[in-house]
Amino acid sequence: MIAHIIAVGSELLTPYRQDTNSREIARILMDMGIKVGSISVVPDNDEEIARVIKSALGRGQLIIITGGLGPTADDRTREGISKALKLNLEFNEEIHQWIKERFRQLTKKEPPDNLARMAFVPQGAEIIHNTVGTAPGLWLEVEGKDLRVLALPGPPAEWRPMLEALKDRLKSLGKKNIVRRVLRIAGLREAEVEDRISPFITGVKNPSVIILASPEDVQLHILATSKDLEEAGALVNSMVEKFREVLGDNIYSFEDEPLEKVVGDLLRQKGKTLAVAESCSGGLLSHRITNIPGSSDYFLLGTITYSNEAKVKVLGVNPRDLEEHGAVSEPVAKQMAEGVRKLAGSDFGIGITGIAGPGGGTPEKPVGLVYIALSWEGGTEVHRKRFSGNRLQIKTYSTSHALDMLRRRLI
Ligand code: AMP
Ligand code: MG
Repeated sequence: MIAHIIAVGSELLTPYRQDTNSREIARILMDMGIKVGSISVVPDNDEEIARVIKSALGRGQLIIITGGLGPTADDRTREGISKALKLNLEFNEEIHQWIKERFRQLTKKEPPDNLARMAFVPQGAEIIHNTVGTAPGLWLEVEGKDLRVLALPGPPAEWRPMLEALKDRLKSLGKKNIVRRVLRIAGLREAEVEDRISPFITGVKNPSVIILASPEDVQLHILATSKDLEEAGALVNSMVEKFREVLGDNIYSFEDEPLEKVVGDLLRQKGKTLAVAESCSGGLLSHRITNIPGSSDYFLLGTITYSNEAKVKVLGVNPRDLEEHGAVSEPVAKQMAEGVRKLAGSDFGIGITGIAGPGGGTPEKPVGLVYIALSWEGGTEVHRKRFSGNRLQIKTYSTSHALDMLRRRLI
């Protein structure tokens, strides 16, 4: 089964709105064993919508469209489907009544006339109920062709329950036995990971392995299909074991969990607490830590001590070290970690100071230079790192490295 995804919306072709539906739907399909053959973004225009639908005909068996099902004149998906597949739009009075009633329920107002547009249904289409908004979804099986078209409203809150309701139907179209695992890795670059695992993956199609790298981490996506679920699971497991051997504890999660969750669980398990002092990361480390529900169990304090004065006043950094070595230096990172640990009375303290750029670099202290310190009862370690990328990427690399230092100390 091959699926083609079409995102409809003129705004999606401007820099101001992004098509996030396609990515999310691709993921859902992938988990069902349905391969995505293409993703297209098209404006609110009948001809354009019809053109991409037609181009997908014969290349796949499922077309999923999002957007353009609303009541306003610029919502053209119904017309596009009708043109592409030469199906008349028929007015459905029952749906019209339902839409009007739904509108009254949701808004406590009388429905405007244009809602009637949503009651026009391509000949033979099945209505997929919208449990959140008013626009109905459409499911079409094209006679004589091995083709299904699913049209969904644009808002994720509206189409997610529809896809959920159609789960069994879609699953029956996909490969039956598919197992997917995501391993997450810290402390190695993408090329190093690839180098270590390449003997196991070159020429191997099942399971398929994809390496994905971002400033946050490196991920290995492993996907196996087989005649039964058990066998697919065994294929994945044996690959995971090989990866475990060559990557060791650089793998921080076998279950696709973020680093801040893994570190949080370790802190909780061991009954330890954490405080962080951030300079160049500007609160991102605290943000990541507190994104995890229940982080108040172990996270005591986060400071964004950006100025030299704040580093001295809040964390007790020695002004002479600041003058002599500069704010981006090993002694300052160390004193930040130790200072915040003392201030919070926590078991661990982290200090981050660096140059996130794009300005402010010098030959001795280039953009991307970051000192990261971890302090605990037994001592303080400081890493000097040189990250590349834009400001946000350097901030993200720094926070991942800090979390990974703590993880390694905890395991
Ligand atoms: P529509 O059904 O085309 O009127 O879309 C209604 C709303 O759904 C838009 O204003 C967006 O907020 C959202 N939306 C539509 N298409 C997408 C998409 N491809 N990705 C993310 N959000 C979308
Ligand atoms: Mg739209």
